[in-house]
Amino acid sequence: MDRDNIYGHISRILITEEEIREKVREAGRMITEEYRGRPLLLVSILNGAFMFMADICRQVKTPCEIAFMSVKSYQGDSTTGNVQIVQDIKRDISGYHVVIIEDIMDTGLTLRAVTDILRGRNPLSLKIVTLLDKPERRIADIRPDYALFTIPNLFVIGYGLDYNEAYRELPYIAEYSA
Ligand code: 5GP
Ligand code: MG
Ligand code: MG
Repeated sequence: MDRDNIYGHISRILITEEEIREKVREAGRMITEEYRGRPLLLVSILNGAFMFMADICRQVKTPCEIAFMSVKSYQGDSTTGNVQIVQDIKRDISGYHVVIIEDIMDTGLTLRAVTDILRGRNPLSLKIVTLLDKPERRIADIRPDYALFTIPNLFVIGYGLDYNEAYRELPYIAEYSA
């Protein structure tokens, strides 16, 4: 990749920083209301959800704990359909209400695998909050409990989302164009 010219591939901004901030605040309020006074664990899947996790946990105004998993399922811009746990969470989740904080649900295969694994560890409850939902691409029979934005079938970058590890630092969501 030509590192000097990577921004030439940002075709248009789909979701601005301000729009993200507003929705993240709303989602934080929702989580706060639902889990107030209950043991809450936010589990995020690296690397894509790092920025969303950092922002949303600061909008959750009730105590919560945070854990990260690392999963590999994507190469370039097409799914391999193959989900591999690279780094698991090491703690016992059975005393917690677990909320998965995900960047994007596409085929749903990643969250299908992750929720099956986590559910097997008997959390008090398990829900999915995803920043972005691309329902047109769904293969697995799974839906988020809460999606901040529903988007069409485009490959998007920014706000944690990469194309071959680039663009994660962008503060907005943009469409990638080859
Ligand atoms: P799924 O298993 O639902 O197909 O996809 C899960 C992962 O694929 C996401 O967590 C994300 O890392 C990657 N992915 C899916 N769609 C996109 C996209 O439009 N842009 C980027 N950058 N990654 C995507
Ligand atoms: Mg992800
Ligand atoms: Mg990726």
